Amino acid sequence: MVRILDTTLREGEQTPGVYFDAHVKLAIADYLERLGIDYLEAGHPAVSEEIEEVVRHMSSRHANLTVAAHSRNLREDVDRAIDCGAGFIGIFYCVSNDRLNGVFGKSLDHAIEQISGVIEYAKTREPNVIIRYTPEDTVRSDFGNVLRAAVAAVRAGADIISIADTTGHMVPGTDRSMFEFVRKIKGELESQGLGPMIAVHCHNDRGLALANALDGYRAGADIIDASVLGLGERAGIVDLAQLLVTLAADFPEENGNRWDLELLPEIYELVSRYSRIPIPSNFPITGANAFTHCAGMHTHAVTKDPRHYHSLDPSMVGRTTEICLDHMSGSASIKHALGRLGIHADNGIVDSVTAHVKDVGRKGRTVNEEELVFIADMYLDNRLLHNANQPKTRERPRTIRIPQNVMSENEISTGPPMYR
Ligand SMILES: [Zn+2]
Repeated sequence: MVRILDTTLREGEQTPGVYFDAHVKLAIADYLERLGIDYLEAGHPAVSEEIEEVVRHMSSRHANLTVAAHSRNLREDVDRAIDCGAGFIGIFYCVSNDRLNGVFGKSLDHAIEQISGVIEYAKTREPNVIIRYTPEDTVRSDFGNVLRAAVAAVRAGADIISIADTTGHMVPGTDRSMFEFVRKIKGELESQGLGPMIAVHCHNDRGLALANALDGYRAGADIIDASVLGLGERAGIVDLAQLLVTLAADFPEENGNRWDLELLPEIYELVSRYSRIPIPSNFPITGANAFTHCAGMHTHAVTKDPRHYHSLDPSMVGRTTEICLDHMSGSASIKHALGRLGIHADNGIVDSVTAHVKDVGRKGRTVNEEELVFIADMYLDNRLLHNANQPKTRERPRTIRIPQNVMSENEISTGPPMYR
């Protein structure tokens, strides 16, 4: 069963301009625990006393997940992580020839000796702590170096080897395939009698982070890293909601009902608010338009059965199919929207209202329920505002919602208005 590591609070804070106060970090962690993720990467305690305190606080507060702390390949970093009570330490050290020679001025043998020494030290101090070793920029480093370092790390006590696509370099189906990389390193380690968990950390520079993570998963990766909104360096990493929904919907035998997915919209709004990174309206799963239909033919079809234009059920994340009224609307969607408001109009009126809505839409606006009543009233000669079952909402909805279950014509025309 694949495990999920959320790194919104560590990788996510590497997004330019993003900073979460300690109390916000704890609130986000509370949500992620309720969502059901396995590991929560809380930060690097050596970076600041505030992060150290947050890791300490979370480690005692969140009993249903394991709090992970980042650590350089240094004993003092390991000491700080263990002293905070972190149950998981992520140690990173690059083993590419370019970096070893050009930046560190060290030989591979020397680097491996240091990595093994720090891991052995951590396991001696706290045998139960989970140790992950990451050869930074794994997929672009010399494979022989990565393998030698991984073997030494596992022999020293590392539980997890993380395959980092640090620059979003991998492309599925090519010779830069995460599927092939994970399969190859697992095979090499197994041939030496070693079976660590394999993690994949995929950056999204080419927009392929989720595809690469799924490639790794299909090849047997045990852990996938993700963050809310895909926050992270540059173009970020795998988006948590897209990952969880895809795993639950498309690999249901292993992953169905593992996570409380209905919490995702709330979590995304919270993280978006405090990171000041807006959720793009066309973002899969959590974007405002992710389950909204505008085109007339589409709306006509989804009022019969939402599955005509959905491959995912929006109720998985507590959402519903929505119909947007604008320049793309057809008479079917107008008739449907009027029906939900309890307004019964003949075809001539519906056509007039449709033309009027299209005119408004061409100005770059959408028409909500309140405005639809005003438009319909104009063509019904003011009878509507005095007599009809018009909505009396405080906050007017932007779109017309329909439930996900298949509706009959009768339900469409007589059902009560639904508000956001
Ligand atoms: Zn990263």
